[in-house]
Amino acid sequence: MDRAATRHWRPATRAVRGGTWRSEHGETSEAVFLSSGFSYDDAETVAARFTGEATGMTYSRLQNPTVAMLEERIALLEGAEACRVQASGMAAMTAALLCQLSVGDHVVAARAAFGSCRWLVDHLCPRFGIEATVIDSAVDEEWERAIRPNTKVFFFETPANPTLDVVNMQYVCDLARAHGIVTVVDNAFATPVLQRPLEFGADAVAYSATKLMDGQGRVLAGAVCGSSQFIEEKLLPFQRNTGPNLSPFSAWVVHKGLETLHLRARAQSESALALGRFIEPRVARMLHPGLPSHPRHELAMRQMDAAGPIFAFEVPGGREQAFALLNALELVDISNNIGDTRSLLCHPASSTHANLGAEAREAMGVSEGLLRINVGLEDIADLTEDIDRALAKAGL
Ligand SMILES: *Cc1c(COP(=O)(O)O)cnc(C)c1O
Repeated sequence: MDRAATRHWRPATRAVRGGTWRSEHGETSEAVFLSSGFSYDDAETVAARFTGEATGMTYSRLQNPTVAMLEERIALLEGAEACRVQASGMAAMTAALLCQLSVGDHVVAARAAFGSCRWLVDHLCPRFGIEATVIDSAVDEEWERAIRPNTKVFFFETPANPTLDVVNMQYVCDLARAHGIVTVVDNAFATPVLQRPLEFGADAVAYSATKLMDGQGRVLAGAVCGSSQFIEEKLLPFQRNTGPNLSPFSAWVVHKGLETLHLRARAQSESALALGRFIEPRVARMLHPGLPSHPRHELAMRQMDAAGPIFAFEVPGGREQAFALLNALELVDISNNIGDTRSLLCHPASSTHANLGAEAREAMGVSEGLLRINVGLEDIADLTEDIDRALAKAGL
């Protein structure tokens, strides 16, 4: 379909209809092209495609129809000129950073971040001579203070995993622009349905599409969105030659997941707000950007259409009480995944953030009593009953 014709569609329509390329069979659900290679009518076509004079498929590390459909749909949802998908969220984050950084460059990154995102800046970047400074991303002045003459990239999540820190995107993106710094936002917790960093001046938006985009806990996937120039000049040369490609089957699964993203993200956000309000009086600390107790509640609500399905809370009795609560669950699963239609509870200090070490966890606010929940699509009354019972069993 002519992509320009889809631009006037509203977001929910884009999610269902955007990025659909029908074959000659007229299928309603998009086809899965599980093919690594492609054949040509004549030798001239091969030559023209390889020089870029003609469009068309050549090899699935370079293009694949099912993968391209997903990229078009995500770009439309994000309001981005271009998107490329990767085999996982971490493949997306790695590509988004390494495609534009070189030895001697400097990165400023948020301290509160997904464990592997921290590993990229703490361990991988320095191995290749890229300096990194990790800051408290919720303190605006820290961004400015960390800038050096060789600062090339700002990298952060908002809300952040697992402490739900909120970054002031307008401030940070304006600051980056003024210093010629590229801003990369990991938007996995919100997705374009709840928050669009490009509208605040971000240069690139990266995703773990494993989370809300697939939304049903089926496949690993990642995505990077940005301007055509960024994608074609920076990301594509890196991606095409290093090969972190998403399988066409997984691309198809995420493509289908996006059709219900609006409904899921809104319904799960609503249940997360209700469950957060229920839990708050029973625990030592609540970390939910949708609740007035969050230090950046008003900012979060200006940046987001809804607060999303994920929040965290702290029980006063440390690891022992956190484990007692987890072990008392009957409906909610003990699981470190997020974005699923199933409600999942996890203890970050012993799972997603275990490898960081105690000192970095403490600096990040990942205490031994911290629990992170993904609120799914189950009936909120059943979820509330299960959490109520588990809190009581844990002595809360
Ligand atoms: C899960 C997650 C990632 C990593 O994504 P994978 O698909 O697991 O590789 C990166 N950032 C955030 C914020 C995440 O939640």
